[in-house]
Amino acid sequence: MAKAKETVLEIDLNALTHNFEYLKSKLQKNTKFLAVVKAFAYGSDAEQIAFHLQSLNVDYFAVAYTSEGVALRDAGITKPILVLHPQPVNFKTIIDRCLEPSLYSTRVLKEFEVCAEKENQTNYPIHIKINTGLNRLGFCENDIDYITSRLKSGKAIKVTSVFSHLAASEDHNEKTFTLKQISSFKNISRKLLEALNYKPMLHISNTSGILNYPKAHFDMVRSGIGLCGFGNLANDNKNLKPIATLKSIISQIHIIKKGETVGYNRAYKSGVLKKTATIPIGHADGIGRHYGNGKGFVFIKGEKATIIGNVCMDMIMVDVTHIDCYEGDEVIIFNKQFTAENFAEAANTISYEIIASISRRIKREIIK
Ligand SMILES: *Cc1c(COP(=O)(O)O)cnc(C)c1O
Repeated sequence: MAKAKETVLEIDLNALTHNFEYLKSKLQKNTKFLAVVKAFAYGSDAEQIAFHLQSLNVDYFAVAYTSEGVALRDAGITKPILVLHPQPVNFKTIIDRCLEPSLYSTRVLKEFEVCAEKENQTNYPIHIKINTGLNRLGFCENDIDYITSRLKSGKAIKVTSVFSHLAASEDHNEKTFTLKQISSFKNISRKLLEALNYKPMLHISNTSGILNYPKAHFDMVRSGIGLCGFGNLANDNKNLKPIATLKSIISQIHIIKKGETVGYNRAYKSGVLKKTATIPIGHADGIGRHYGNGKGFVFIKGEKATIIGNVCMDMIMVDVTHIDCYEGDEVIIFNKQFTAENFAEAANTISYEIIASISRRIKREIIK
């Protein structure tokens, strides 16, 4: 891999292949695999990731918002795309672009059916989202009669899948709750299926569900973070490979005399002679201010350099007093060894947040 000459986010498609094959090895042969590529495939590059996974014959894609599905269609993705969180204002676009909505309430079900009828659709594929305890989106058990009566009264839409989402599949302390979610999903979906004269797919497992609840794979699983190389638990992380490397360079070195300060609001005051390195990445790039003032760190020449003072919009300053480094040297914010998860933990957050927030202005480099 080339040494960085500016801030870049490298995406390793070989690591993606590895993660996809590893996660698939946990499934029964007939279980389908849905790749969640919302939020630019967790901050990487949705089109490149989706194309690569399509070439590996993934079964399905999911995005959160309609616009993300449109972008994939514009790029030429042909596999089915589930839109997890659509709004009625976009229902016509959904149909125009052959996207498949998750319908999660009586309001959106009704509005989508009206739209599909107006667009002269028959059996348009939709996905019914059931709330089993996350209390975020989804129908409850009492809505089943409404759903089935709606589905029986017209021909415009057809249920491709019934699904739910786990609240704490990565947390072994919440096993009882997760098992309760799974059994309530079984109950509610069975009632729904009994009322239909065909059999939609069932799915509930995200990455941690795949790894921790093999009995909850049903007909399909949905993975996002696992494809990015994180399994949420140390034991699973070691079988996966982070696909993203965020690296940069030292723009300038400063010698800070005792009593001098560094950065905005003079937040860092030096008690001794210090050497600092200024790096072109800041809170506008996704390194939030919570990483500042001694929390976050980067690696230079394999050594840890802590962020000192406040994170600026386009820069951070790190303490390199102990490192033999020069202007132009490479800086690793995270890679396969110094992972985004470790970086995130330093600021009390999670891998999902840091990787998904790396700004669009940082160049993506795809490694094949
Ligand atoms: C984001 C999301 C996923 C993917 O979860 P991971 O933990 O990243 O695998 C799956 N299902 C739904 C409904 C989601 O919103």
